[in-house]
Amino acid sequence: MERIPVVEHHTEHKNASVFASDKIHVRMFPGVYSQLRRMVSWPLLFAYFALVWGQSDGQPWILFSIDDRRLFFFGSQLGWNDLSLLAGILIVAAFGLFVVALTFGRIWCGFACPQSVWTWLFLRVENALEGPAWRRKKQASTAWASPQYYRCIGKHVIWGAIALITAITFTGYFVPIRDVLNGVVSGNSDLGVWSWVMIMAGLTYLNAGLVREKICLHACPYSRFQSVMFDDDTRTVSYDALRGEPKGSGHSTQSGDCVDCTLCVQVCPTGIDIREGLQAACIDCGACIDACDSVMTQLNREKGLIGFYSQHTLSTPLNKRAGAQLHNAIAPLFRWRAMAYLTIFIVSIIALNLAVIGRDQLHIGIERDRTNLFTQLPNGQICNTYTVELESFYPKSLKLRVSLRTPENSNGFILEGPEGIHLPDGKVVTKNYRVCTDSARQRRTEVAFVFSAEGIELAKTSTFLAGSVR
Ligand code: SF4
Ligand code: SF4
Repeated sequence: MERIPVVEHHTEHKNASVFASDKIHVRMFPGVYSQLRRMVSWPLLFAYFALVWGQSDGQPWILFSIDDRRLFFFGSQLGWNDLSLLAGILIVAAFGLFVVALTFGRIWCGFACPQSVWTWLFLRVENALEGPAWRRKKQASTAWASPQYYRCIGKHVIWGAIALITAITFTGYFVPIRDVLNGVVSGNSDLGVWSWVMIMAGLTYLNAGLVREKICLHACPYSRFQSVMFDDDTRTVSYDALRGEPKGSGHSTQSGDCVDCTLCVQVCPTGIDIREGLQAACIDCGACIDACDSVMTQLNREKGLIGFYSQHTLSTPLNKRAGAQLHNAIAPLFRWRAMAYLTIFIVSIIALNLAVIGRDQLHIGIERDRTNLFTQLPNGQICNTYTVELESFYPKSLKLRVSLRTPENSNGFILEGPEGIHLPDGKVVTKNYRVCTDSARQRRTEVAFVFSAEGIELAKTSTFLAGSVR
């Protein structure tokens, strides 16, 4: 399989610094992909806030409660014992990302990654308050006395407010959101909550407001990982050099379709020139497609000089493109590697669901007293003592009946201890029991503690010892 070379450079803004005046001033441009990004990012933003504020039966839709040591997930509760499910979630996420990366490159980065979603949000605020890119660039070189700076201050205030709301909501994934909000508003939050809120607010402000594309360029491992995933059938934002070159003014019949207007560079959030080839810095956001399509429309030329193309399509001569376009449309998904990833992705989702449905919602721990293996009573009975620990992950309190199940032909066992246990939701209850028998026939017998309530019956086995273990 031929590997696509990834050009790694940062053309126009190579030396741009976060705070310097030569930082990237992204030009906002309307178009199909701009609309698509909004259609993806607004629901994601809505979900981010709604998931912690939404409640069913008084419980949040999602809460990774550190205090309760459990995850509340749409009415279900998972404990730390279910952490193995996390491995399943990671497998599902990884293979989902593999399928997307193999078929459509970094569209996750351009459309759905939180870094991009929040950066575009901050960019819209910047554009609304400080005006278009050319004005922002001009303002960056003017003196502090400029009235534009009041707009700049306003922008930072709004950025700060968005960052704070984002951070409070993020903390609400771990501590009930209403407690976080009340604590922050009243100033009574504990140090842990304050720390989380301040750190997350600072990171959001820095990442989406100031650092922006540098996270994608230097901190995100996915940009390095992409060259491993790509092959020449992967569709990714690309410039059609066969059609566009040689660049010209648009008047000569000798030149290609690219008129070198640089609009595609001006709108790029990572400041690259896609005409220089596939680059690790490209996040597949499609902004340059919108810009170039608009130029082509104005010039009465066919759109698509920049588009989501595979290398296979781009290397096909222009007069054979009709077949290549069909290949471009179906090949990314219908090949063995993509199908294999997709199959594992779907199977992992099914397995994860079955594991969640089939998990025990009553965690039972039974510990036999190990300091005193067995006791012989004056009446000849032999007894073992046990500590029973119960934790319920049912979203309600339980009244459990406790009984003992012993193997056939081993009658004579009795269970001493509380017959009924009230198990409140979210609490760990510990009880002591004693099992005795006057007819122990063997040194070791497997006995089962049975816990039952309406529609629930769970058993946990332990060992009864009637003599020293050899
Ligand atoms: S927007 Fe299109 S025409 Fe303008 S420079 Fe970029 S590729 Fe060329
Ligand atoms: S080159 Fe185009 S798709 Fe890639 S990051 Fe820049 S604007 Fe987005």
